Amino acid sequence: MRSALLVLLLGAVACAPSNVDALLSANADGDATPTATAPTPAPTRSGQEWGARGIGDPDFPLDGNGGYDVSRYRLKMGYDPATKHLTGNVSIEAKATQSLRRFNLDLKGFDVGKVSVAGKPATFTRSGDELSVTPAAPLAKGGPFTVTVTYEGVPQPVKNSSNLGTYGFIPTADGAYVVCQPNGAKTWFPSNDHPADKARFDFELTVPEGLTALANGELTKKPVTSGGKTTFTWSERHPMVTYLATMTLGKFELREGRTAKGVPNLAAVDPKYRSTLDNLHTVTGEITDYWSTVFGPYPFSSTGGVVDDFAAGYALENQTKPMYGGFKPDESIIAHELAHQWYGDSLSIRRWEDLWLNEGFATYAEWLWSEHRGGASAQSLFDGYYAKPAGNPMWAYPPGDAKPNDLFNESVYIRGAMTLHALRTAVGDTAFFTLLKKWAQDHKYGHVTTPEFVALAEKTSGKQLDQLFDAWLFKKGKPAL
Ligand SMILES: [Zn+2]
Repeated sequence: MRSALLVLLLGAVACAPSNVDALLSANADGDATPTATAPTPAPTRSGQEWGARGIGDPDFPLDGNGGYDVSRYRLKMGYDPATKHLTGNVSIEAKATQSLRRFNLDLKGFDVGKVSVAGKPATFTRSGDELSVTPAAPLAKGGPFTVTVTYEGVPQPVKNSSNLGTYGFIPTADGAYVVCQPNGAKTWFPSNDHPADKARFDFELTVPEGLTALANGELTKKPVTSGGKTTFTWSERHPMVTYLATMTLGKFELREGRTAKGVPNLAAVDPKYRSTLDNLHTVTGEITDYWSTVFGPYPFSSTGGVVDDFAAGYALENQTKPMYGGFKPDESIIAHELAHQWYGDSLSIRRWEDLWLNEGFATYAEWLWSEHRGGASAQSLFDGYYAKPAGNPMWAYPPGDAKPNDLFNESVYIRGAMTLHALRTAVGDTAFFTLLKKWAQDHKYGHVTTPEFVALAEKTSGKQLDQLFDAWLFKKGKPAL
């Protein structure tokens, strides 16, 4: 995620008409099925065989759930912007990590009609954002199961949260803007809503004819229109965390093609932002290809970007399709969101306190892009921030322990990026850039923690780096150079 200054666009230029059929060519052959790292088993309530209400993140105790691990979400959704009414039929394929008489899903609002497990009706209760499901028969530890939930209602995004603003399923004038970091997936589908559980996603999104429904991954069949409605079928074949899933919909103008290196590339903009469509498409292609030379092979089957007309003032790195909320993205923010495809999306944090592993890397990528383009060097950008006086709040917030009530603090971004620059200075460019690639490769589609990064940095460089990381990530005060 990154915030952005709002830019008002005046005027518009002619633009190629959207051609949704052409999107089908965005299907590429992908990698062999990858293996995601299994999350740490959640605590159990002994004797009761109940899955925990949270996945075990002490900073967000009710986010996610314990007792199972999701492998796939099949989301069949309908949405009508005129009534703001959403209908959902969601099937979740999971494996029980303990024996389960009861387990929870995260879901905010909606009327739940029916829940079934293994094809048999299950009973359920609601409490806050928890949906507790009791299958007809207990689930055996290690066994696969499918839970299906049908529900409907008007989505309630999280609004004006202390430092996160508005996120989740957000209605717009012509559809919806769907960005869910850190825990807004529950505002549109029942899920294990925490990044510690990654899964594959299939989407069947039905919207009024004339609108486009966008999701992660690629279209797998031609959109079908019937009775005034069009259904878009998308599939994200690589593991993804719930907060990166989207079904942003509305009027969109599209441009599709491939990057110079051949990665399918789709740009979509609300008509209000049509003047930025070609630039978004071109720059996204250039940066995707450039990052693949710096960070290693692009981890997904397509790239792209979406500009919608909701004035979020921030962008989110939705897997394969970063979302830019109500502004014309510049190169810097596109470089940031695309760097997240490696660091944040392919590699996911297991706990929110490690957020600098996403944001420090993506911010440092902005500096690398600037350097690559002949703008300010990473060193001069570092120097500029280092000149901030000792009383600057950034020095009082150690970025290696992101605070739940101030998750997106500037320190997590800037001081996180400075940590990487301090590391680069200490180990030299050869070891540093080897490390960036090795980090992305070793943990592709899996989970990462700060101690794992420190260990790999030490192994790759052959240097003792405890002190450096301790000063930059975990201690209050301005680190000495
Ligand atoms: Zn970011």
